Amino acid sequence: MGCDILCNRYMTSIAANLQAVRARIAAACVAAGREADSVQLLAVSKTWPASSVREAAAVGQRAFGENYVQEACNKAAELADPGLEWHFIGPLQSNKTRQIAENFAWVHSVDRLKIAERLATQRPQELPALQVCIQVNVSAEASKSGCTPDDLAALAHAVAALPRLRLRGLMAIPEPSDDSRLQRSRFALLRQLRERLNSEGLVLDTLSMGMSHDLEAAIMEGATLVRVGTAIFGERNSA
Ligand SMILES: *Cc1c(COP(=O)(O)O)cnc(C)c1O
Repeated sequence: MGCDILCNRYMTSIAANLQAVRARIAAACVAAGREADSVQLLAVSKTWPASSVREAAAVGQRAFGENYVQEACNKAAELADPGLEWHFIGPLQSNKTRQIAENFAWVHSVDRLKIAERLATQRPQELPALQVCIQVNVSAEASKSGCTPDDLAALAHAVAALPRLRLRGLMAIPEPSDDSRLQRSRFALLRQLRERLNSEGLVLDTLSMGMSHDLEAAIMEGATLVRVGTAIFGERNSA
């Protein structure tokens, strides 16, 4: 106890927040009967400067999520740290796919075949395959982003067949809710959709789901990667 207080006194708030988020993930894994290392933490650094990423990296955080291509590329260039892994998690536009294919390790938000085909064509040969998740709309009328559960199977099989991409799994952003049963039912749907695709011969190991306010519910339903911004870096200014 004394050590915790002493150590925290000398940590930056980002380092202390990261430690708290890691503790939440560990506790949720215990509650879910899962291994502590079965959930990866993606630190969502959108809107925060390179100095904030550096603070998180200094205490061992390696994977960072960004929504805006140009902002992310500027930050990555400023940091010039080849040990960092950049994940694109924002809405995808056709005119941004080349920059994404050339600068990111992962893309979580693929929701249509045309975008996946462009990423496959534009992924440089000298880089490893681009790691891809398909974003699914698990909230029906409450949300617009992501492919529908009905369209998922055809899209997933088509994406899995593309060169230069490796389809890793599914991603969802359910509508915000304080009702933990509703949250869990959305995450459970994503888990069931992945199970169905795997039973059809795909090998998907990733469920990218859970954010600052609902990561516990997501971990209970099988999240393998949680995307956390506010709980690490603080409240974002809504521009
Ligand atoms: C901003 C964002 C997050 C992080 O949300 P927080 O509530 O700040 O943790 C996660 N995923 C996506 C796709 C985002 O756009």
